[in-house]
Amino acid sequence: MSSASKGAAAIALVVAIVGGYLWGRSDGQAGRVAPLTETASAKKAELDVYYPATESLGKNEMRVVALGTGMPSVRPKQAAACWLVELGNGEKFLFDIGSGCHERLAAQKIPYDLIDKVFFGHLHVDHMGDLPSFWLGGTVMNRLTPLRIWGPSGATPEYGTKHAMDLMEQMYVWDIGTRGGVIDFRGGQLDVTEFAFDAVNEVIYEEKGVTIRSIPAVHGLDGAVSFILEWNGLKFAYSSDTIPNKWWAEHTQGADIAIHECFLPSVLLVTKQGFAPLEALNVGTQGHTSPEQFGKVMSMTKPRLAVGYHFYNDFDTQPEVMRRVRKTYDGPLALALDYMVFNVTKDEIRVRMSAVDEEIWPSPPMKKKNPPDTSKAIPFSDFTKSGVIPYPEIVQPIYDEINEIYDTDYEPVFK
Ligand SMILES: [Zn+2]
Ligand SMILES: [Zn+2]
Repeated sequence: MSSASKGAAAIALVVAIVGGYLWGRSDGQAGRVAPLTETASAKKAELDVYYPATESLGKNEMRVVALGTGMPSVRPKQAAACWLVELGNGEKFLFDIGSGCHERLAAQKIPYDLIDKVFFGHLHVDHMGDLPSFWLGGTVMNRLTPLRIWGPSGATPEYGTKHAMDLMEQMYVWDIGTRGGVIDFRGGQLDVTEFAFDAVNEVIYEEKGVTIRSIPAVHGLDGAVSFILEWNGLKFAYSSDTIPNKWWAEHTQGADIAIHECFLPSVLLVTKQGFAPLEALNVGTQGHTSPEQFGKVMSMTKPRLAVGYHFYNDFDTQPEVMRRVRKTYDGPLALALDYMVFNVTKDEIRVRMSAVDEEIWPSPPMKKKNPPDTSKAIPFSDFTKSGVIPYPEIVQPIYDEINEIYDTDYEPVFK
């Protein structure tokens, strides 16, 4: 088997498992997995895979892609929290941008100029850890528009998003210094909107028919929120991190797709992660939402599809998480894995796995690139310059090659 066909087989198996849970629900046997049959042909499985950049989105359709579904300690199978929402009107939104998610985003093959809006539910590293790489790496990967960021205030200004972004810009002053005079750095601008963490269901974004509201969450400290996006009669709700709360219960009622944290059961935090029992109880039920609490919340709010995330989703944990969710919820459910894709319309919610292209390169820029503003280049000291071995007999022919092809007359900096 080639590695590509092995990959396809693995994806097909995952799809079959996911599908099994959905079938299990629809036949009224809560949580029972339908048996795989010979009729689940390879051809059918192939059709159930989402190949990024090969499918246009219907004009009334929403696509949600899980780019990070795991825990703060990222692992090859699951990055930390990140969700991409794409709409039929062309708009795209990132909700959280946790550690490890950037490569999953790259695998979606979306030009960087088209993903310039990031919403943070709170400022834990597993919800914002890949921001620097997406922000500054994105400038090299052809994002030529400023990165727009929305995040909550905190109890005091230094706990708010604006302060965090100001400090991030300071933290990366050396990185920024290397790029300013060398590349078209328009994508290095940050456009930060901080909104009140305690605003209840207030609009924080309204453009092109898309409305995003925030509601307070209960997690960590004051300054955590959840989001509700509405567009074209479809409603997407995303908890980021929270324990069950009255704002989610009231305002996410009847969402088409509700993505809510569903943490590892406390007993598994002890047995598999080495937590002390009291730690496991605190983290697993008072700081995060246990599977049983998740199920209760979904029973109260009745989304068309409930999606649980924020746990290590493996062959030995998923059945236990599922069993506990099913104590309190018997509705439509998916337990998320990275690369799970949800196509949402008023008629149907289709759940598939996305194929992963490990050889993806960044897309060409959407806008025309400007030449770098060399006046912004910060020069080396005489000391560092004194160390250069310029190898003109090697470098000059490289310049000659480019100058001949592009009819330019550039010269090496170091001669
Ligand atoms: Zn958190
Ligand atoms: Zn988290």
